Amino acid sequence: SEEEWDFLWCDVSWLRENFDHAYMEEHVRICHFRNHYELSRKNYLVKNLKRFRKQLEREAGKLEAAKCDFFPKTFEMPSEYHLFVEEFHKKPGTTWIMKPVGRSQGKGIFLFRKLKDIVDWKKDGGRTEEQKDETQVETYVAQQYIENPYLIGGRKFDLRVYVLVTSYIPLKAWLYRDGFARFSNTRFTLNSIDDHYVHLTNVAVQKTARDYDPEKGCKWMIQQLRQYLTAKHGAGSVEVLFADMDNIFIKSLQSVQKVIISDKHCFELYGYDILIDRNLKPWLLEVNASPSLIASSQEDYELKCHLLKDTLHIVDMEGRLTGKEKRVGGFDLIWNDGPVSREGNLGTLVNGNFMANTHLGTYS
Ligand code: ADP
Repeated sequence: SEEEWDFLWCDVSWLRENFDHAYMEEHVRICHFRNHYELSRKNYLVKNLKRFRKQLEREAGKLEAAKCDFFPKTFEMPSEYHLFVEEFHKKPGTTWIMKPVGRSQGKGIFLFRKLKDIVDWKKDGGRTEEQKDETQVETYVAQQYIENPYLIGGRKFDLRVYVLVTSYIPLKAWLYRDGFARFSNTRFTLNSIDDHYVHLTNVAVQKTARDYDPEKGCKWMIQQLRQYLTAKHGAGSVEVLFADMDNIFIKSLQSVQKVIISDKHCFELYGYDILIDRNLKPWLLEVNASPSLIASSQEDYELKCHLLKDTLHIVDMEGRLTGKEKRVGGFDLIWNDGPVSREGNLGTLVNGNFMANTHLGTYS
């Protein structure tokens, strides 16, 4: 019933309204942390990363802090408008992307190169027609647009990768081996910055394109991508790329470790959005606390069913695990209050990062 449950797969609005008054017995589990938005809202993610970077610089030096440089330059709008304008004038001709922090699926996003392009936005605070009467201004982020995305067949894509966190203190996180690349349907060009079909790789956007073929879809499994990149650039470069991604998962979680209210009833399955540029550098775009579980093909359906099954095995309501597992189904333990060794390789560095116990994009 509404009030009697052991395991709750709820949406974040349920959490907002009910979590604080819900009495939860010891064994009960719920699929979000109370203040998940510290990681999943675009403006909070940046704030936490910037603070964590400063802390690392103080405590461990510039080199360690530079490992947090996987996020495009970002400003909260309108609160950081003046800082943004200063940065904007330093790099004339650069492309920027404006994104509302509280929406998803590409809604409300636009690209621009001239300040006058955001004058209208500034005037009515980014409010949509329906919001015109509201006094509250919708918060956006202005983010440097990655102008050199890695292209395959002339098309841009980004990656969806799943990370499961079962505890923040101590931090315990698992990385899923499967994931996918979402392709845009239209060849990439910087000439038409208003064309969402070129620049936004969200499936919700791409499937409305006139020439979208639902049979073909717009996804590649991450295994296919890893194979393609390995054939093109060699195993070494691809190892570095994937180790850099592991670094993104760990650093972003560490940046909110002390902020998220750690509660033993909570776990969270995050959907990471990563963009790779032409130099094979991965950039973190966003972390979703409610990644879509809708399937766009049979392959996608299977991925998501396995993902949920394996998530439930790790949440382990029946108490079947020993607590010493480093792998459960498609999940590999990437962090357990410290790095987890991969086949006894703790201490080996890839591009300055430790070699994590991960197998993203390999076949299970
Ligand atoms: P949403 O929450 O609406 O999905 P995202 O931040 O994921 O917002 O952005 C939507 C899409 O826009 C991404 O999937 C990506 O294709 C593109 N995008 C977002 N930010 C950038 C950026 N800084 N550089 C290049 N492309 C971006």
